[in-house]
Amino acid sequence: MKKVTQREIRGIRLSTYMCGLAFLTSFVILLSCLFIGYTQERQSIEQQVLELNEIHAKELSHITESLVAAMQHSLEESAKYIIAHPAESEQLAQSNLDYFRNSSSFFNAVFLIKPNKTIAFNSPTSLNQAGTKLTSRISIDALEAKRPTISSPYIGKINRTIILLTHPLFNSSGEYQGMLAGTLYLQKKNELKELLGTNSRKTDGSYFYVVDREGNIIYHPNPSMININVQQNKVVQALMQGKSGKQIVVNSKNRTYLAGYSVISNVGWGIVFQTPIENTNVYSSNLVRSTLIYLVPVIILFMLFIFWLSRWLGKPLYLLAAYAQNLAAGHRGKNRPKLNRWNYEARQLHHAIMMLEEETGEKERRLQSEANQDPLTGLLNRRALQSITDNWVYNQYSFAVIILDIDHFKSVNDTYGHPVGDEVLKMLAGVLRSQVRTEDLCFRYGGEEFVILLYEVSEHEVMEIAERIRQTTAIFPTPMGPKITISLGVTLSQDGESEAQQLFKHADTALYQAKENGRNQTVFYSF
Ligand code: GH3
Ligand code: MG
Ligand code: MG
Repeated sequence: MKKVTQREIRGIRLSTYMCGLAFLTSFVILLSCLFIGYTQERQSIEQQVLELNEIHAKELSHITESLVAAMQHSLEESAKYIIAHPAESEQLAQSNLDYFRNSSSFFNAVFLIKPNKTIAFNSPTSLNQAGTKLTSRISIDALEAKRPTISSPYIGKINRTIILLTHPLFNSSGEYQGMLAGTLYLQKKNELKELLGTNSRKTDGSYFYVVDREGNIIYHPNPSMININVQQNKVVQALMQGKSGKQIVVNSKNRTYLAGYSVISNVGWGIVFQTPIENTNVYSSNLVRSTLIYLVPVIILFMLFIFWLSRWLGKPLYLLAAYAQNLAAGHRGKNRPKLNRWNYEARQLHHAIMMLEEETGEKERRLQSEANQDPLTGLLNRRALQSITDNWVYNQYSFAVIILDIDHFKSVNDTYGHPVGDEVLKMLAGVLRSQVRTEDLCFRYGGEEFVILLYEVSEHEVMEIAERIRQTTAIFPTPMGPKITISLGVTLSQDGESEAQQLFKHADTALYQAKENGRNQTVFYSF
């Protein structure tokens, strides 16, 4: 199986996910706030602009109505004067008419017309129409109506758009004497043109235009629009039905406007005051900008807090993960993380890892001891002997080695069987354990050979212990009856000895010597 190393384990940290999630959430909330704010603000601005435009249209229509009423009134007063003060001469009559025209800027021209459709006087005289007959249908109709009239705009003889206002003349006996007529040219200098014809667009693109009863534009800031019929426009249609109000309207050029409109009732015209809808976006964008200015620092602080919080919350899990990885790599107990009181999952995980660590530690210790133990006698085995002597030699400890071997053991096996031989081995192990000091270590070296390591002993002491073991064994009861004897080889570690092997060789030599000498004896290795 492939070993998983720390380097290979990749992935994104939990705190990074949490941070990312918080960033995403804040971002979505910010966008939603901006969107809702922007839409609401836009609607309210649109409503305000519509209302303002309606007010402008109404004001302008009232002023225009007053102006037209003033024109009619001045015609009426002049008509009264003409009847009350019949001119003694034609010259006087002409100068009266000139005086009337010049006393205001209402009319571009004034006419006194007899009932027989003849123009008696005209001012200015440069028009040269005195003595001529009326030709236009509009003026003839006005004469025959015998009451005050206001005409619709119409194109006159000299290709000018004209409006005709008339007032009838009746003498004291009620006989019809003709009419006093005032004309004004829509696009020439006069009071009406001053009021309606000199409008320029405002900075936000707002402007107004005026339509007559038939839906023809008569005043517009763009001169090329004048005389164009716009009766298909929804606002103009409402005006033609005599309605005033406000609405969002799309014009013939597909542009959307916020329009307020009002009827000029005494002439039947309509005024439309409108603002291009896209120009109001400026106000909504301002809102977005100011919202951003206030919100962005707050959001940055919030995100920094979330960043810190997610790190803080994620840290225990991160540390536990690192610790678990350490465990997997065999570094038990290194950088053990502290228990986190706040995080439930971290607490659980901490508990589980600690339990697991304890359990595996226990298992490992058991395996370790099993690996170093001889299963038959329960003494330490050759493997343990190897590592302990290596360690003692390395550390230059002073110690003694006893190697012992059962004499003629083969015959025990042969006579009583292998299981009895095993029992004898166990018995001898018990003898060894009982005869050594607590700090000494007993090993089964192999077969029926044993080793004892004795820490910090003199030759005398070790020999005493060896002899005690030999003597005890020789009298110790055996499972089969006849006693057994053992031979022992003893040696002491030398200063500067670097190989444990050498030491065992010496002890072995001594043991060999003991066997040679007739068994059941202890021999100390001498150089
Ligand atoms: P001596 O040492 O005195 O020279 O004679 P010996 O008979 O003991 O000779 P040797 O050391 O060669 O024989 C060892 C015998 O120990 C051989 C083997 O049958 C026996 N033996 C080794 N291990 C075990 C074991 O685990 N159990 C039993 N029952 N016998 C074992
Ligand atoms: Mg042997
Ligand atoms: Mg033997």
